[in-house]
Amino acid sequence: MVDINRRLLLKAAGISAFGTIFPSVGYLISAHAQEVISKNTAPSAKRWAMLMDISKCPAGCRDCIDACHGIHNVPLINEPGQEIRWIQKVPFSNAFPSQENPYSDISLKKREPVIMCNHCSNPPCVRVCPTQATFKRKDGIVMMDYHRCIGCRFCIAACPYGARSMNFRNPRPYIGSINPDFPTRTKGVVEKCNFCEERLAVGLPPACVAACRHKALIFGDLLAGESEIRTILRNNNAFRRRPELGTEPHVFYTG
Ligand code: SF4
Ligand code: SF4
Repeated sequence: MVDINRRLLLKAAGISAFGTIFPSVGYLISAHAQEVISKNTAPSAKRWAMLMDISKCPAGCRDCIDACHGIHNVPLINEPGQEIRWIQKVPFSNAFPSQENPYSDISLKKREPVIMCNHCSNPPCVRVCPTQATFKRKDGIVMMDYHRCIGCRFCIAACPYGARSMNFRNPRPYIGSINPDFPTRTKGVVEKCNFCEERLAVGLPPACVAACRHKALIFGDLLAGESEIRTILRNNNAFRRRPELGTEPHVFYTG
């Protein structure tokens, strides 16, 4: 449970610092955030990444979504603007609007890529967070510290991929079966995909990857030259969502 007084204190401190340092909400960086970013971009042993072969994902399959949302206590709220999503399937044209044209392969148009946080190497969400509630680890995972989140939603505004969700209400009543091994969140806290860092820590693959019977999702270390993901990326034309923004997304797509 988040200590409300602590969050209010952080909120006051964060907003006041933000107002001083940031002349407007944009992509300017506070000195402290800059330090956090530079510390966490030092060379590391791993750089985790995800790859999806869109052609292997059958229409209607939701195994990855159910696995992820089940294990992470993601509430099921079916009201527009209130939904919480760590991973979702969207029409190809929504995920890759600039990749489609009127003459595109019809089968391409019917595909539904799964989208999630891209664990960007240059994450704008991290830069705008006034309390460092979101931060990037050396292995590339962009994390949330739920206890530091003050619900300002600057990160939601900054993320160009819509990868973050806000708990506008207490999510607990909307969780079918609570997994006691993963924290539930509270009203006023932002959440998103964490690349299953809690599973990686004990040697398990991400839940969505483990749940996919069609082997459409591949996860691995880009710095390991012979890893499966590295080999696929070396031998195939892969693409990413909105690479022109310079965010360096680390979820790749083929198919
Ligand atoms: S996809 Fe969005 S939330 Fe995830 S790291 Fe990139 S900017 Fe941040
Ligand atoms: S990597 Fe983990 S947290 Fe991210 S979408 Fe897959 S199952 Fe969910």
